[in-house]
Amino acid sequence: MNAILITTKATSVIAQNMKTGKLFVLSGPSGVGKGTLRQHALNNAPNLKYSISCTTRKPREGETDGVEYRFISHAKFQEYISCELFLEYAHVHEDYYGTLKADVMNDLESGHDVLLEIDVQGALQVKEKMPEAVLIFVAPPSVEVLTQRLTGRGTENAESLNVRLNNAIGELSYKDKYDYVIVNDDLESACEELRRIIL
Ligand code: 5GP
Repeated sequence: MNAILITTKATSVIAQNMKTGKLFVLSGPSGVGKGTLRQHALNNAPNLKYSISCTTRKPREGETDGVEYRFISHAKFQEYISCELFLEYAHVHEDYYGTLKADVMNDLESGHDVLLEIDVQGALQVKEKMPEAVLIFVAPPSVEVLTQRLTGRGTENAESLNVRLNNAIGELSYKDKYDYVIVNDDLESACEELRRIIL
């Protein structure tokens, strides 16, 4: 009996001392500079890990499976949904995107901080399941600036550009639900702001 008591106490002491990581969720419209901010944060926060999402979108030129995304078929994505493997998932623009639960939990449990770069629908699902997650929204200085940036990026055709711009306007209306809003007016200041939030 005593042994059981001692074991239980020891387990709870270990559980208390085990430091789990923090979960950060970065969102914001296409073209706002999330990718650059994310890379800067990863370069400057050694304990931070990026969770690679699954998507049904086709890889863009220069993208590699398992690096930017895990590029999977619609059938596989549906299978993952049925098996409840996603922490969150959403239909964004014209494709499915999702974060694997196991990836995030393993990293958090091993003491790493984890960064997700996901859309607003996904971010709100995460906040509901894990209220301790820190939600960070990256906003453009104005819709006009965003339009110029997205057009200048040259990665989208006219139709995809329109979809992304319309979605951007919708996404901006959710920014008040986030813990922090970073206005990406000056890239260097925005990077510093994100670094401070994370560290
Ligand atoms: P892109 O196709 O430009 O790489 O990404 C399009 C959008 O999908 C971006 O807003 C990005 O943040 C979002 N996204 C990427 N991965 C995920 C994910 O795992 N879940 C959700 N909900 N959105 C994601």
